[in-house]
Amino acid sequence: MILEFNLFKPFSGQLIHGITTKPLGSFNNEEADFEKQKNKLPVNPIFNKQVHGDKIMLITERPDQPFEADALITQKKTLPLGIKVADCQGVLIFDPKTNSIAAIHSGWKSSVLNIIGKTVKKMGQVFGSNPADLVIGISPSLGPCCAQFSDPEKELPEFVHPFIKGKNVDFWSLSLQQLKEVGVPENQIEIVKECTNCNLNRYFSHRNGDKGRMAVFIGLR
Ligand SMILES: [Zn+2]
Repeated sequence: MILEFNLFKPFSGQLIHGITTKPLGSFNNEEADFEKQKNKLPVNPIFNKQVHGDKIMLITERPDQPFEADALITQKKTLPLGIKVADCQGVLIFDPKTNSIAAIHSGWKSSVLNIIGKTVKKMGQVFGSNPADLVIGISPSLGPCCAQFSDPEKELPEFVHPFIKGKNVDFWSLSLQQLKEVGVPENQIEIVKECTNCNLNRYFSHRNGDKGRMAVFIGLR
């Protein structure tokens, strides 16, 4: 099964997107059957090597070598973007005005680096995107119920501290704040607040020990 963001549905004439669920199998590009798995998707996305950083790459052609980046942006119709997740946030951005897209892999390390805020700014620099026009979806990911640290105050920088409850951290609210800070209206942000580790029949969870990954993809028509 492939899920869709409700906020993206009015734009189905301009773009194709989705989030795979566990029953569709794993989309880990380090697995041998990955090329065959990709045939289950309606597009052939570019999947990169994710490294939990904040590097943003402008995609202008299909790369023949794996490259390291956690955010991809493009304006090319022939180049759908993909990331794979299991607990980390898969973030998709669509700008209907400049017809540009982004796919972001945001685990807690990239959240702390504010990769999503940086990607919004980058789309402004590269495509002339206005944050007020952007539509954003955030995939099912590790919720505040399960994002536990042994000593969050010590492990995380001070600006994250308002999102700490006991030993747990609410990265959904952190992402929302980071997007609002760069000027994205709250009603244009959809966060699917389903915790991956609490819904193991639907999603893969790294915290649960799963090796599998869901694919989160977006492409322009
Ligand atoms: Zn949970």
